[in-house]
Amino acid sequence: MYILVADDDPNQRLFIIRELEKEFSGLQAQEIVDENSFEQVLGGDRIDLAILDYQLRWTTGLDLLHRLKRHSPNCPVIMFTDTANQEIAVEAMKSGLDDYILKSPKNYIRLRASARAAVERTQSKQRAALLEVRFQSLLEQLSIGVFRATPDHQVIEANQAFLQLLRISSLADEQIDQITSQLSQLTELAPGQKRERELQLTNEGNVVWIRLAETLNSVSGEAVIDGLVEDITELKHYAARLQTIQEEERQRYTEQLEQEISRRTQELEEANKDLEAFTYSVSHDLREPLRSIRGYAQILLEDFADQLDSTGQAYADRIRENGDRMDQMLQGLLSYNRLSRMTLALQAIDLDIAVRDVLTQLELQLQHAQIIVEAPLFTVIGHYLTVEQVITNLITNAIKFVTPGVQPRIRIWSEPRSEFIRLWIEDNGIGIAPQHRDRIFRIFERLHGVESYPGTGIGLAIVQRSIERMGGRSGVESQVGQGSRFWIELPTFGE
Ligand code: ADP
Repeated sequence: MYILVADDDPNQRLFIIRELEKEFSGLQAQEIVDENSFEQVLGGDRIDLAILDYQLRWTTGLDLLHRLKRHSPNCPVIMFTDTANQEIAVEAMKSGLDDYILKSPKNYIRLRASARAAVERTQSKQRAALLEVRFQSLLEQLSIGVFRATPDHQVIEANQAFLQLLRISSLADEQIDQITSQLSQLTELAPGQKRERELQLTNEGNVVWIRLAETLNSVSGEAVIDGLVEDITELKHYAARLQTIQEEERQRYTEQLEQEISRRTQELEEANKDLEAFTYSVSHDLREPLRSIRGYAQILLEDFADQLDSTGQAYADRIRENGDRMDQMLQGLLSYNRLSRMTLALQAIDLDIAVRDVLTQLELQLQHAQIIVEAPLFTVIGHYLTVEQVITNLITNAIKFVTPGVQPRIRIWSEPRSEFIRLWIEDNGIGIAPQHRDRIFRIFERLHGVESYPGTGIGLAIVQRSIERMGGRSGVESQVGQGSRFWIELPTFGE
């Protein structure tokens, strides 16, 4: 602690030094008695504190203050004087004086306190200055642009990185508009909350992407926008490249998948074709020997009846019956098979007409049944003969699968369902257990023996395949013992 005491009175100097020695340990005092001693001090070490009298023989305290401040602006200075002059005091204060104390015995204590306060103030100012320097250099080293702007978007300070990012040399450059025009309005910012956005700028014809973060702060009661600006052009390019790569990947994957699917579909189609050709030729070829079997059974029954006893005749009868049944099955198989090979020419079909035609054709079988048709049944798109075949299969089933002795009752109606018309055929028959509802649509699947309900098990398979080939769907709702409602859905005309 190096202090300077300028006073003409040696006793005063002694008192002052004694007093300050109590306050600061290791105090080193330099007494200033004339111009010469003052000059020496100015040329020497750093001064931590100066105590000046005003009225000196060789100059004034004010003059010393000025010269001292020029030499070391941060040095705290206290004027300790008899001269109670307000003008001088004000002028001295303006020139950086820390305190002005009147000499009196009790004011020595004040001098101590004032000296301590002045020294501490200076020290903390120095620490702050040091911090500021470090902070500034840190800011300059950052590759992130840092700036502060007023609420009306004037940038008041910014670091070097900010200028570099915008390729400008000073805040006066017009290019700065690119940022300031994008700054938020105060209403868009909540105090202490960061608002982040990505913006595109152009720098000397190049596109530059930046991320702008703004925070609303207040500095001595004034609102300011503190901003961070980061160059994310590289990042953007990288992200874009990544996306392109991902898209290409996806595209390649989709193409591979499509190729694989079409390859498998083709394989499946070929396999189906093979199978159908095989089924066709087998069914076709089997009918030939079957015809012979049936023919010979017929001959046995007609020409050799007298040579056979009743058991023999019954057996020959069985051969013929089973032959007939087998022929029906082969025929069914052939027509099911034909359905896949045939091209179905589609046309508009008025279901009211189609259903009426079928009912007319089945007139004989239906004479004991009760039929209710709820018109209109609407118009669908399909292949006329195939649609008739489907309706025929469903109606014949509806009258066939009833408990013996019960009068069959059939209700037919239809309902539009967006792009489809659903035709319902409801019966009062024996119904179908839930676990069989899918099975019955498969070929030769039957739930009963031929003895109780005749049939080959091909009718519903034909229904399902026909409807599918015409772009529709089919199904059934049923409860055992409470009848069934079969339905088919075919496309209708758009609105
Ligand atoms: P088929 O009538 O020649 O037996 P289908 O394929 O038409 O062959 O029907 C398959 C089976 O589905 C039938 O054997 C029967 O068990 C069941 N089924 C079909 N329609 C009905 C119906 N309306 N009510 C009850 N069961 C039915």
